[in-house]
Amino acid sequence: MKFMLTSKGDETSDALCKKMRQYLEDFDLKWDPEEPDLVISVGGDGTLLSNFHRYKARLAETAFIGVHTGHLGFYADWTPQEVEKLVIDIAKTPFDVVEYPLLEVMVSYINGDSAARYLALNECTVKCVEGSLVMDVTIKNDHFETFRGDGLCISTPSGSTAYNKALGGAIVHPSLEAIQLAEMASINNRVFRTVGSPLILPKHHTCLLEPVNDVDFTVTIDHLTLLHKDVQSIQCKVAKEKVRFARYRSFPFWSRVRESFIGDAE
Ligand code: NAD
Repeated sequence: MKFMLTSKGDETSDALCKKMRQYLEDFDLKWDPEEPDLVISVGGDGTLLSNFHRYKARLAETAFIGVHTGHLGFYADWTPQEVEKLVIDIAKTPFDVVEYPLLEVMVSYINGDSAARYLALNECTVKCVEGSLVMDVTIKNDHFETFRGDGLCISTPSGSTAYNKALGGAIVHPSLEAIQLAEMASINNRVFRTVGSPLILPKHHTCLLEPVNDVDFTVTIDHLTLLHKDVQSIQCKVAKEKVRFARYRSFPFWSRVRESFIGDAE
């Protein structure tokens, strides 16, 4: 099996990375940053998000796994203490794969430039730089509402515990192929009205956002911020691709939710 390891870049993660690489090579596994079967991230969720984007062109051939050197991550859910057992499992056991849905984002431009396609593991956000963002929101080809406010967040199920959660969105189990649209500080009064609740859309339902006013806004895809000019529309839907995580032990999604947000306060 070919593997690749990346570190968050701090001393602890670098040292752990070095140790894991040595162990894995001692087991005759091949270091291959170009075409790895397994990509191991050491650091936090951000390290795994970066790896996802680095290898997004070969998602069908690559599986991801994350070790956290700080607090428990959602993607980086192995502890440094478990690393020796993990290395032996990687070397000796074929891994099971768990697949999670992704978000496809298509940005189209008024100046005729070809549309840009992005994949998000967590979410896409559209946020105004100053003033209020006004966006027509069309769901499944029907105009749904005109949004006014700070912005909108469209998340994947596994991203529902990230930015989406801070916006009051629901936590969605990643076995559900869906995307969620959550508002950021919508203006609601006698003149302007939005639904106010997060919406969960099934596979094949598209959500189209079209800017109405002429304010500058940013589009983020996970940890990446894209400054777009001349945007005509942003279309979001469940992607046909999925992300694959290597599973060597069971750590159910709801246990990760409980451990991350509630803890063991009993
Ligand atoms: P970062 O270092 O600022 O990390 C933000 C936090 O989000 C970290 O604690 C990380 O563990 C956590 N996180 C990332 N993905 C998660 C997930 N799927 N479920 C639960 N927690 C998750 O930035 P980064 O590491 O580059 O991560 C980028 C992500 O940060 C974005 O995708 C976005 O979801 C999140 N974010 C959250 C807020 C917020 O909650 N208000 C604001 C901005 C960005």
